[in-house]
Amino acid sequence: LFSKNEYFILILGLDNSGKTTLLEQIKTKYTKIPGLPPHRIVPTVGLNIARTQYQDIKLIYWDLGGQTQLRTIWNKFFSDVHAIIYVVDSSDKERFNESRDELEIVINDSKLKDVPLLLFFNKQDLPDAESIEYLSSVFKSVIQSCQLTNSNDQLSSLPSSPSPITTRNVQLQPLIACKGEGLEQGINWLSDCLR
Ligand code: GDP
Repeated sequence: LFSKNEYFILILGLDNSGKTTLLEQIKTKYTKIPGLPPHRIVPTVGLNIARTQYQDIKLIYWDLGGQTQLRTIWNKFFSDVHAIIYVVDSSDKERFNESRDELEIVINDSKLKDVPLLLFFNKQDLPDAESIEYLSSVFKSVIQSCQLTNSNDQLSSLPSSPSPITTRNVQLQPLIACKGEGLEQGINWLSDCLR
């Protein structure tokens, strides 16, 4: 059914984190079919899919919708997944812990063992958005269980993990989904992981 060099990427995150906006940006940037402009986007109910050809690899993105009642269906898709994109609303402080706990459940699923994780800290344009440094401390338990691939020293405050428990790569990427800022860096990283 699927050809070689074709990879499934699951886009997850709480509702309102910006998953649909991200996927529409991906469509606009990487396909010939333009994505919906931000004002036409409605909350995701069910599946939203984008298929892209980027350099030598084909990526198929699945946005499963983040509403609580839909979360139980997420893991039906896990066995076919090659990478995870997890989107966080950097301004929604009340839900940081909920978002992290949700991510922990996802990455603890045995079907997703060692699958690379791109952590998009979205809405960095908002004045009350938290910094990547701060967010990395909120998500510390997740990050320390993986191999952090960020090469900048922005995250030097993050206590290094002597022995990550998986070989999963994780990259922390600031994002402004509605403008596409940070998107290319994230997708380049992901593509390199999959090659
Ligand atoms: P989803 O429920 O995760 O699919 O989230 P949506 O993509 O529907 O986005 C939720 C809301 O956040 C919408 O009002 C978007 O316009 C807004 N949004 C998404 N990305 C950004 C961003 O980078 N900056 C700002 N300021 N708003 C964003």
